[in-house]
Amino acid sequence: MTAPASAAHPPLEPAPAPAPAPVPLPPLTAGRSGPPPRRGAAHRGLNIVVSVAAVAVAIALAPLTLVGLVVAASAAASLEVLWPLHDQRRSRASLITDLTHAVGNRYLVLPLIAGLLVLVRPVTGLVPAAVPAFVASLPWWAQLAIVFLLSDLCNYAAHRTMHRVPLLWRFHAVHHSSERLDWLATSRVHPVDLALTITAASLPAFALGYADQHPWLLTFLFLYPFFAHANAGLRLPVLDRLIVSPAFHHWHHADEPAAHDKNFGAILTVWDRLLRTAHQPGGYPARYGIGDPDLDTGTYAGHLLAPVTRRR
Ligand SMILES: [Zn+2]
Ligand SMILES: [Zn+2]
Repeated sequence: MTAPASAAHPPLEPAPAPAPAPVPLPPLTAGRSGPPPRRGAAHRGLNIVVSVAAVAVAIALAPLTLVGLVVAASAAASLEVLWPLHDQRRSRASLITDLTHAVGNRYLVLPLIAGLLVLVRPVTGLVPAAVPAFVASLPWWAQLAIVFLLSDLCNYAAHRTMHRVPLLWRFHAVHHSSERLDWLATSRVHPVDLALTITAASLPAFALGYADQHPWLLTFLFLYPFFAHANAGLRLPVLDRLIVSPAFHHWHHADEPAAHDKNFGAILTVWDRLLRTAHQPGGYPARYGIGDPDLDTGTYAGHLLAPVTRRR
């Protein structure tokens, strides 16, 4: 599955630059997970209680956001039926955990994101007033393109930082623990990881004076990844090279050394191609995850505590 060097670095990239230092992905275990670890009834019961509580609070906080979630999940699940990729069961040991992430986790982070944005407001205030004034003078489509491009670049930078900084990787490892990708695996993200990444992607909107459009941006950032993670083998001849599709993002989750720390883009692939982190050899990975079956099949509460309790 490893691509030749020429395929991993298409012509869009600039002249060769010094290779980045190795990034601290944890070592892979020798074998695959096999059957999920056995857990007692009390353990499973506690997981259900925590999951129900998280989902209930999320529904109370943001009921309308569930509509977008259902629409995006249905669309991605439809792609999996129409263009099935890997032959895998839809139910799995982590079903309740991942559903809790999908419904509860995503919307519980909204207050966290709001708090982080207040903290970084002084940074956005450093942008000279002439900059947002210039952007505002442009046609609407140019304003939209600028905010979108800068947001996607910030998302790329935040994601790459999650892989490079060991402390942040402890949070991001939760997202990479899935050994099977599908629309539901999209949502398995630690709240701290999600809040930091979304806050970073929101900075351009606030710095350029589009804070009132933030809910639309949030909705898009929450829902687009359902497509990128889907267990769908559809190919988009030109778009596959331009946007983050399953053919691109699945390699980010590949359990293969050549694919580690590649494909950080959220929506556009251009940042990975310009900054030499693109890896798209064609086809799809045969294995996913980071070789940690306990984390893969862990409970929602276990995922929340993983940055502290996980040994590696
Ligand atoms: Zn990642
Ligand atoms: Zn992912």
